Amino acid sequence: MRLVLVGPPGAGKGTQAQVVAAHLGVPHISTGDIFRANVAGGTDLGQQAQQFMDAGELVPDSVTNAMVADRLTHADAAGGFLLDGYPRNPGQAEVLQELLARTDLELDAVVELVADHETVVQRLLERAAKEGRADDTEEVIRRRLDVYDEQTAPLVDFYRQRGLLRTVDGVGAVDEVSARIIAALPSANA
Ligand code: AMP
Repeated sequence: MRLVLVGPPGAGKGTQAQVVAAHLGVPHISTGDIFRANVAGGTDLGQQAQQFMDAGELVPDSVTNAMVADRLTHADAAGGFLLDGYPRNPGQAEVLQELLARTDLELDAVVELVADHETVVQRLLERAAKEGRADDTEEVIRRRLDVYDEQTAPLVDFYRQRGLLRTVDGVGAVDEVSARIIAALPSANA
C-alpha cells in the first residue's frame, strides 16, 4: 500500500501515521522527522532546512524532493509506504508522481485528516508544552497554518480530481481516528 497522509499541522498526522503504518506493515516516512533528525545531528541537510523550519516555512522543494527520492529507494519502501508531511505543495505532488512512475507505480490513496482550526491550535499548544518543538511557538504555529492553507490545501483538490482522496474526521480519541482511517483505505485486494 502506497499512501499519503495530508492535513493541517496539529491534525494528528504523526500519531496516526505511526499507528496506521504499523497496522499495514509499511514504513512511516515523515519528512518533518527526517529534517528534525538532521538538524539534531548537525548534518548539511539539517543546516539547509533549519532556518525554514524555525520560521514555519517550507524547506525548498529542491532539498525536500531530493531527500524523498533518496528515501524511497531504501529497501523497506519497496513494498509500500506511508508518507506523512510530503507532498506539501502541488510541485512536490508532481515530483512524487514522476518518481513512482519511473518504476510503474502509483499512489493507492491519499488520506486527508480534517480538524477544525481551534482543535489544531489547541493541540499544537499542548504539544509545545510537552515536547518543546522549536516551531511550536504561537507565532510560528500561525505561520504554519497559513502555509498549509496557501500551499498544501490545494493538494486536496489535486488528489480528489485523481480519485485518490479519502477524507477522515481527525477529531476524537487516537484509536477511533485510526479505525476511521483504516476503514477508509482501499482494500488490499482491490
Ligand atoms: P512537520 O513535522 O511535518 O510538521 O514538518 C515540520 C517542518 O519541516 C515544516 O514546517 C517544514 O519547515 C519542514 N517540512 C516538512 N515536510 C516538508 C515538505 N514536504 N516540504 C517542505 N518542508 C517540509
